[in-house]
Amino acid sequence: MRMILVGPPGAGKGTQAGRLIETYKIPHISSGDMLRAAVKEGTELGQEADTFMKAGKLVPDDVVIGMILERVAKPDCENGFMLDGFPRTRPQAQALDEAMVKANVELDAVLLIEVPDQLLEERACGRRTDPETGTIYHLKYNPPPADIVDRLQHRKDDTVEAVSTRVQKYHSETAPIVPFYENKGILKRVDGVGTPDEITKRITAALAT
Ligand code: AMP
Repeated sequence: MRMILVGPPGAGKGTQAGRLIETYKIPHISSGDMLRAAVKEGTELGQEADTFMKAGKLVPDDVVIGMILERVAKPDCENGFMLDGFPRTRPQAQALDEAMVKANVELDAVLLIEVPDQLLEERACGRRTDPETGTIYHLKYNPPPADIVDRLQHRKDDTVEAVSTRVQKYHSETAPIVPFYENKGILKRVDGVGTPDEITKRITAALAT
């Protein structure tokens, strides 16, 4: 299964990806996670990406494309992968398409998780990640167990200002890639409003069609 998760910030892509990879046994490749790891390690790529990320802006295409194409060429992706947060622009979608044609493989599905803008700020700003397990919680909608609250991390770009920029970028840069996949007949739209369990059920049903 080669698939892509698309959706605005706070749509629940990371939460759902964590569940889906257990079912499909494929690597979860999150461009955001890879960039955050690079920032933490202080690599050249991380230093370049940091300013863009903090402001909620997109990291330049050439940086992200190189990083992801290198990752999907690794042996563990031979039988499939789940891309989360990439592609996010037309040039990224084009570059992925070209790389897949070259490798003689095809995408099976592009899942679009749809959530209205007015819900995104609260969803993203209340999000907390457990660095030990990678589990994503929400202080109100998916509260963490009391004994791990102190170790949870709040992303630097899950602030009102950065989320607003990220939502704008989603509409101007990412939404235009949707018709590209719709024309290929592999786009599956899923309503992302509901509990994580409800959305997983919808995704599983959409992927079965
Ligand atoms: P995410 O974890 O997917 O919400 O990504 C967090 C941030 O990383 C984004 O706001 C961007 O600054 C950067 N980023 C992640 N994926 C991409 C991408 N495909 N293209 C450009 N920037 C990205």
